[in-house]
This record gives sequence, structure tokens and C-alpha cells, in this order.
Amino acid sequence: MKKLCLGIESTAHTFSVGILDFEGNIYSLINDVFIPEEGGLHPGLVREQHLNNFMKIINRALSEAKISIKEIDLIAFSQSPGLGPVLKIGAWVARMLSQLVDIPIVGVNHCIAHVEIGRLKCNIKDPLSLYVSGGNTIVSAFESERYQIFGETLDLAIGNMIDSFSRDAGLSHPGGPKIEKLALESKNYIPLPYVVKGMDLSFSGLYTSAKYLLQSKDYCKKYNLNDIAYSLQETAFGMLTEVTERALAHTEKKEVLLTGGVAANKRLQSMIEYISKEHDARFEVVPLRYAGDNGAMIGWVGILRYKAEGGHSISGTIINPKERMDQITIPWRS
Ligand code: AMP
Ligand code: MG
Repeated sequence: MKKLCLGIESTAHTFSVGILDFEGNIYSLINDVFIPEEGGLHPGLVREQHLNNFMKIINRALSEAKISIKEIDLIAFSQSPGLGPVLKIGAWVARMLSQLVDIPIVGVNHCIAHVEIGRLKCNIKDPLSLYVSGGNTIVSAFESERYQIFGETLDLAIGNMIDSFSRDAGLSHPGGPKIEKLALESKNYIPLPYVVKGMDLSFSGLYTSAKYLLQSKDYCKKYNLNDIAYSLQETAFGMLTEVTERALAHTEKKEVLLTGGVAANKRLQSMIEYISKEHDARFEVVPLRYAGDNGAMIGWVGILRYKAEGGHSISGTIINPKERMDQITIPWRS
């Protein structure tokens, strides 16, 4: 019998359960996504939705995999980083299941999971990764036993910045795909703040300037929303590409991985593909089903860590909302 892991993702908007075997074959993946009616992610509201739906999601994942909970050998959950009240739901559910079924439990760093699912699904060994999502913007690579961070945002995450701007422009959540579509209709670049500090990025000034363009008297006269969408993407993605290229030149990795929900964006893909080619590196985008937050990636890292060093004790499963990916050693790659 193949050994099976049930992975639970619960860091932000998505409560997701993935079931996979210890070789990385995925049998089911079910997501429940919180979509705000207005404003951003209110942790209290997200927590309520996850709390109300977790059993339904687990049962659907089990039935899609055609197994019962008794056949699961390992529980993995996202232990860090994320919204505290939301992380707690996943941690509580995982602890309950682990004790009810009497099987080991492993806590997982969510950012590392985004990279590891890319290594699994794209069949690559040692990439430089650009992880771009609603809550994170990180350029990282494996060096000296850890996933080192070469560049990151100093303020807003790229996905959050685009979603916030699109909300201001009257578009519904999530804004990323809508801005991508509008941007295709323009070639009129309006200069916006391009802020790269050392290897880090800052998107707050860019966001504020784009928002001011919407409020200006010239809006809908000298330029329209397509032009702002185009300029916003060109500026933000240009910044991401610059930092990724410099990290690539420094690390001399031969593979580049684009992951996270924003990886769906074709313009960003083409920019990162371009610099990858310039440096003779293979370029891969994580398949979109696994690029956004999902329980399969959490399950996979749970399996990797469990095989390398066993499970966590229950007291070792306390959530860590601020943990960075470079704080953790990676025994399965050493
Ligand atoms: P995640 O946080 O990884 O689940 O990804 C969600 C984020 O991805 C949201 O901020 C979305 O707006 C963003 N996103 C999804 N599709 C696209 C796209 N085509 N272009 C830009 N951003 C996108
Ligand atoms: Mg994520």
C-alpha cells in the first residue's frame, strides 16, 4: 500500500486540502477561496469561512481520492507565514485529525512549499525562484542548507498591490487577471515610480501614484484605465525582472521557476523567460492549478520533511505568522 499524506493550506484567503502519496502523485485537491465583498482580506471574516467549511473540504478531498481518513498516514499543515487567526484554523484542524486518527503531524513553511511543488511538478532540480502572490514577493534560491532570500518586497506584495489598485478602479476581486486584460489594450506608457533598493522592491509609491492617476482631471481625457493598467504592469514587472536577473547572475543557477498566483500573468512570464534565456537558464512556470495557494504543496513538503527527520511533536506545531523561509534548514536537500 502506498503511504498517503493529507495536506492543509490555511495561511490566507484559501482553505485547501490535497491528498498525495509519498512519491508525489496527487490524488485530489479541493480549494475554498474567500472573496471579499469589499475591501481587502479581513482575518476575522476569512477565519469564519474556513471554520465553517473545513470539514466539507476535507470530505470532498477524501471522496475525490476515494479513500477514508483511516487510510491517511501523515497530516501536514501550513504553520507559517500568514494571517495569525487564519493559520490557527489549519493548525487546529491538523492537530485534531492527527490525534483522532493517531498519525504523525508536520508543520510546513508556506513559501518553501511554493518552491518545492515547482521542483516536483516542473521536474527541475535547483532553481532560482520568483514567488509572486497576494501576500508574498520573494526571489530565492537554495544555498548553504537553506532557501536564501535574495530579494523581497519592503512593503506591499505584488498581488496585493495590483488587487488594491483594481479595487480603486472599481474592478471586482481578484484584480490581477482584469488588469492583465486591460493592459493588452494599451501601449501608452505613463512614467510611474520604479523603486528597487539594493535587491529589494517597494511597491507602495507605485500604488499611490497609479491611484492618483485615477483621481486626476486628465483621467479619461489624456489617458484611460488601459494605459494605467499597462504602465502599472510594465513598471512593477520590470522591477521584479531586474531583481530576478541580478539574483540569477549572482547565483548562476541554470533553472528559473515562476510561482504564486501572479505567475499566471503572461506578460510577467515573457519578461522572466527573456532574462532566463539571456543567462542560458531553463524557464518554468508552475502549472496554474499548483501555482496559487493549495494543500497539495503543503502535503508535499510535509512528506519531504517527514522522510528526512520524522514528524513534529504537538507542542512543536504552534503557528509562526512571521517566519521567513530562510530561517529553516532543509534536511531533504542537504
Ligand atoms: P495567491 O495569493 O498565490 O493565491 O495568488 C492570488 C493573487 O494572484 C491575487 O493577487 C491575484 O490578483 C493574482 N493573480 C491571479 N491571476 C493573475 C494574473 N493573470 N495577473 C496578475 N495577477 C494575477
Ligand atoms: Mg501563497
